[in-house]
Amino acid sequence: MLFVTRWFYRNIAGLEVEPGGLTCAVCGLPMAEGKPQDKVFRKTFNDHDKLACPDEPNVCPACEWYFDNQQLRFSHWYVTPDEARVLAREDIVPLILELLKTPPVSDFYLLLSRTKKKHVALRGRLNAAGCLSLRINFEEYLVDVDHQVLGLFSNVITLRQYHGWDEIEADAYLPYAILRWPSFGDFERTREAVRPWLNTPQYELARYLYSPKLREDGLL
Ligand SMILES: [Zn+2]
Repeated sequence: MLFVTRWFYRNIAGLEVEPGGLTCAVCGLPMAEGKPQDKVFRKTFNDHDKLACPDEPNVCPACEWYFDNQQLRFSHWYVTPDEARVLAREDIVPLILELLKTPPVSDFYLLLSRTKKKHVALRGRLNAAGCLSLRINFEEYLVDVDHQVLGLFSNVITLRQYHGWDEIEADAYLPYAILRWPSFGDFERTREAVRPWLNTPQYELARYLYSPKLREDGLL
């Protein structure tokens, strides 16, 4: 079940879905009445495999509203039953740090839209209240983030002080750039720590959220 569209509907539109005996094709939650799928989806919609109950014929008013508000998918979101907050990219790492330090008392979604083309909310996976690790919907990926992944973020920032993305991703470093490190041991340790993460969603997220300011601000 996908609560995120219901929570958008409540927190942005200020409306609730009337419960009833029908089931929404998109969110899988109960509703009194809905609209047929073909009246809600555009012809270009191709995320049917992300629907909670694709065989149900109707869509609830909250999910219909979501599809009428396409701009929602152009933002990053932190969404709870009581809040739908737009996040700037630079807000995301501080929020991750906060959520890992103090697990939230309410369920929530963290949705990061990289290309702004996909309905990231439909891929949403709920973080249960009190959960010690964090599940982020990052475009088509579902990324579990814990302190180990924060270590990856930090090591990526360190590598980027001396090397380009192409060097990091090919795991092939230019000798003259290696010489700029304080010691070869530091370079080797950082490289070895990042290497197993290359080509993973966690690495993609680290690259997306990369900013030297995180280091300057003492966050990572
Ligand atoms: Zn729905």
